[in-house]
Amino acid sequence: MEITIKNLTKVFPGNPKKNIPDTTAVDSFNLDIQDGELLGLLGPSGCGKSTTLYMIAGLKAPTSGEIWFGDEDVTNLPPEKRGIGLVFQNYALYPHMTIYDNVKFPLTNLRVKTTKKAAGIIYGRKIKSLLTGDLATVLEEIRKSEFGGKISKQAAARNLVFKFHIVTSMAKKIYSYGLHLLPEEQIPAKLDEIFHDIDEKEAKTIESLKKKGISLNDKFEYLIDGNTVETVRRLTNDEIDELVQETSRLVQIQDYLDRKPAQLSGGQQQRVAIARALVKKPRVLLLDEPLSNLDARLRLQTREEIRRIQKETGITTIFVTHDQEEAMSISDRIVVMKLGIKMQEDAPQTVYNDPHNLFVAKFLGTPPINVFEGYTKDGSLYIGEEKILTDKKALAEDKKVFVGIRPEGFLADEHVKEEDKVFSIDVKQIVTMGRDMSLVAGHGKFLGEDIKVIVDSDIKAHVGVMKFAIRPNKIFVFDGETEERIYLSKK
Ligand code: ATP
Repeated sequence: MEITIKNLTKVFPGNPKKNIPDTTAVDSFNLDIQDGELLGLLGPSGCGKSTTLYMIAGLKAPTSGEIWFGDEDVTNLPPEKRGIGLVFQNYALYPHMTIYDNVKFPLTNLRVKTTKKAAGIIYGRKIKSLLTGDLATVLEEIRKSEFGGKISKQAAARNLVFKFHIVTSMAKKIYSYGLHLLPEEQIPAKLDEIFHDIDEKEAKTIESLKKKGISLNDKFEYLIDGNTVETVRRLTNDEIDELVQETSRLVQIQDYLDRKPAQLSGGQQQRVAIARALVKKPRVLLLDEPLSNLDARLRLQTREEIRRIQKETGITTIFVTHDQEEAMSISDRIVVMKLGIKMQEDAPQTVYNDPHNLFVAKFLGTPPINVFEGYTKDGSLYIGEEKILTDKKALAEDKKVFVGIRPEGFLADEHVKEEDKVFSIDVKQIVTMGRDMSLVAGHGKFLGEDIKVIVDSDIKAHVGVMKFAIRPNKIFVFDGETEERIYLSKK
């Protein structure tokens, strides 16, 4: 589902009596999200990313602007009519319900538009095909799950559900035939009996439908005067079960369905929350900081899970986070926000390689970019006394600038010519980390605590003043007033 956001604005009114001003949480926000895309909405606390998400969800009303899902204007639709699945930071599962019931919950009162079908015939045919096709495995699965009769029919049936992707009631039905209790030689006769019953029921159904003027097509849909019949109804228990099972397999919680939320880890609980959001087959999945309650290891694992699930379902997804690394690793595209305004949108690597302004440059990257106070004079860029580069065209105007150098932008290996080493920093500490070496350094014009440099561990580093060449694609110049990027000429 394509999403289009046009001029979206949200102003929270202040209180003049208490001297609280209005807050513009989202300001003229425009965005196009492609069908099947995973978009990361990224920014520091208070930048308006959650407010944007809640307006898309329908939980907050925009002050102005429009939200479209495909060619449907959803701006004024209530959340339940938008076809969205929402996952919050706190998984908000019902503690007294089993995982199965938690996932099932959104389906309980759901009404769906479907064509009328002869469900009994489909059901019977499926049982027949299962018992004809792979009887040996079916029997093996039933026997395996019985544990000498110590396990409930419901729990034993789960095994068949997982193995053959059938609904629970069908698994129980097959189990109740008792085929697994019979001696081998009696099984064919029992099967004949079962199939005979199924065929007889099917014939009866067709006969009674015929009397009402209803025939069936090859999908067993009702046909009246050659047309299928539409109906709006609740889901049947079997349909609900099928959706719960299918979604549980997708997010890999099928082994925990009989447990309560407290018996699961945080990551597993968040997967349940995702299943609950997906079970209604929403058009759009909205995730609000879904990983922030998890510890580091689970966060990484769940992040990969979300990516896999999103790719498998192809569902258009918006993922809100303040964690740049998380957004960069999971998203097809990221939008960086500041004070309600979109600062930049693009593929994560493109935003990292080509930040349009100082804010974006500082927000992406670990360790973060090193920012220095600098100035331009007669077409050259200076930091302190040192002339870093010359670009007569781009730096024609003399002014104060900010200079950002990525940690990996410093060069000092043996191939670097002495005359290219234009920038001196005062190295205070050297930490070797396998392939790379991390230098902590200082400089009079550095805006921050410590300069962080990452270089190959085979360069000859030493504590004290070291001179470096700067990789041209790792240095960015920003206007000292507007903080917008000054693009250097391509060499
Ligand atoms: P966080 O990551 O901290 O949740 P965020 O980027 O999601 O931040 P929002 O929650 O969207 O930011 O808030 C954006 C701005 O709107 C903030 O300045 C916030 O204080 C303000 N704001 C949010 N909700 C309300 C409200 N109900 N009333 C008044 N101001 C609000």
